[in-house]
Amino acid sequence: MSAVLNAMGTTAYIGIGANLGDAQANVQDAIARLRALPGCTVSAVSSLYRTAPIDSSGDDYINAVACLETELGAQALLQALQGIEQAHGRERPYHNAPRTLDLDLLLYGRQQINSPELTVPHPRMCERAFVIVPLLEIAGNIAIPGRVPARCFESAVAGQAITKL
Ligand code: AMP
Repeated sequence: MSAVLNAMGTTAYIGIGANLGDAQANVQDAIARLRALPGCTVSAVSSLYRTAPIDSSGDDYINAVACLETELGAQALLQALQGIEQAHGRERPYHNAPRTLDLDLLLYGRQQINSPELTVPHPRMCERAFVIVPLLEIAGNIAIPGRVPARCFESAVAGQAITKL
């Protein structure tokens, strides 16, 4: 379990997605709430993208990736992200149900975390264009801890429809 506060500061990447209600407004509000999180500074935000649901249902998703400099430990950051999801009234009636807001902790510094609540790097991030494309927009040279540079996954997700808004 990581400490609540990390005085050194860590660079974290957050995946943002929504496909229920006014999805674009939900993503923009999530970015505003990330900017307001104590102990966090948003240093970069990707464009917004429209993608078709994968392993999910309902309308197209609006997605983005944000980069934070954070003093929060990984677990505390996850809880802060879940607080933002709850503020959007997110319910989980069934696995992969449409969602007003989904926030994933994609990367937390160079750490690899496997706890009951948290897996980092996010286990499916490298298979999804809605993560890889916005991540590369703001961090073109980033490497995935335990894996290879994110750029290497570009061709694997090239068949997934994604449109920059
Ligand atoms: P989801 O329904 O996709 O939002 O998944 C939420 C669940 O995934 C929560 O119980 C989290 O504890 C867990 N989880 C594990 N790893 C992560 C991660 N890297 N980012 C967000 N949630 C995670």
